[in-house]
Amino acid sequence: MTALMNNYQPLPISFERGAGCRLWDNEGREYLDALAGVAVTSVGHSHPRIVEAIRDQAGLLLHCSNLYRIDWQARLATRLTTLAAMDRAFFCNSGAEANEAALKLARLHATAKGISQPLVVVMENSFHGRTFATLSASDSPACQAGFAPLVEGFISVPFGDVLALEAVAQRYGQRIAAVMVEPVQGESGVQVAPGGYLKALRELCDAQQWLLMLDEIQTGLGRTGRWFAGQHEGVVPDVMTLAKALGNGVPIGACLATGTAASLFSPGSHGSTFGGNPLACRVACTVLDIMEQENLVANAEHQGSLLLDALRGALKGHPGVVAVRGHGLMIGIELQQPAAHLAKLAALEHGLLINVARGRTIRLLPPLTLGNEDRVAIVERLLALLASMR
Ligand SMILES: *Cc1c(COP(=O)(O)O)cnc(C)c1O
Repeated sequence: MTALMNNYQPLPISFERGAGCRLWDNEGREYLDALAGVAVTSVGHSHPRIVEAIRDQAGLLLHCSNLYRIDWQARLATRLTTLAAMDRAFFCNSGAEANEAALKLARLHATAKGISQPLVVVMENSFHGRTFATLSASDSPACQAGFAPLVEGFISVPFGDVLALEAVAQRYGQRIAAVMVEPVQGESGVQVAPGGYLKALRELCDAQQWLLMLDEIQTGLGRTGRWFAGQHEGVVPDVMTLAKALGNGVPIGACLATGTAASLFSPGSHGSTFGGNPLACRVACTVLDIMEQENLVANAEHQGSLLLDALRGALKGHPGVVAVRGHGLMIGIELQQPAAHLAKLAALEHGLLINVARGRTIRLLPPLTLGNEDRVAIVERLLALLASMR
């Protein structure tokens, strides 16, 4: 027994250091990282500019609280809202907290509209986090089991289905405050909505005065080959949440808002002790600098389409493979058989770090710095893994 609570099942590998798309364990063994700590280390491990920013800021100031103006926070807000064509930002420490902020904005929006029993529409198979409100918004039995009573006020519809949402509008329209959706569902196995879906959601939300809230915690910051996945369809949401890649491993989350949603919080209505501290915000600004200077959004699109094509070509007709799907460097390989054991096999036998979502879908989320050699190596190692499965 360990002194740790039993909520994780870690593999018996202990990493000691990383560089770019590689990690080394405490026995000196090298691994190719096709997971990036679940879409977090997008600019690669130990990027020298991130290391330098952390070192320098640690010697200046880590924390002073939001009782004082924080220049790095203001700078990061300007950078993100400019990239997203939105108005204002709130900073916190994780994805779940960013979604909590978004859900609180939805409630304030309802209050302003005089809705007494507000509803937020969420999607089947969604994942929005592990806090009470966000697990209530998530459609995952594993997240919810045993935690009743859940937070009220969520109603779910099938992902990608505009007609289902219109039916809900007919039935509950007056009570609905917002729609919260992942542009590509990550935790449920890289589910990609049909083209035009987000645009249709945007139009419906405009017509009904609902807030469109995009959870871009996994899809955002270049992962799908655009700065934000909504941009594939020219969609600007009212509220957008970010976390994962924003700090490349330094915890930070953000809730962006635009229009009336950007002015719903007032002094004292929301806050966070650590949120937006100088260290996290400076690191996030450095992440954005690196992404711009190294052209990582374009690289994600380019390498992502090469990787998807290579996998589709190589796995075509493979009896164990149901589907290969993805967007940019967010790729899922859905298998016929339960495949949860493959993450361990891939790491220990093939030196490849992957994840298996919902027990059946191999999920690839490599660093956005991925180059040709590592892309080819990912395909080779995956094919070897799948061959050993048969
Ligand atoms: C990871 C994730 C979250 C939760 O983020 P945490 O930082 O773990 O709280 C929420 N939504 C989506 C889409 C995610 O991928």
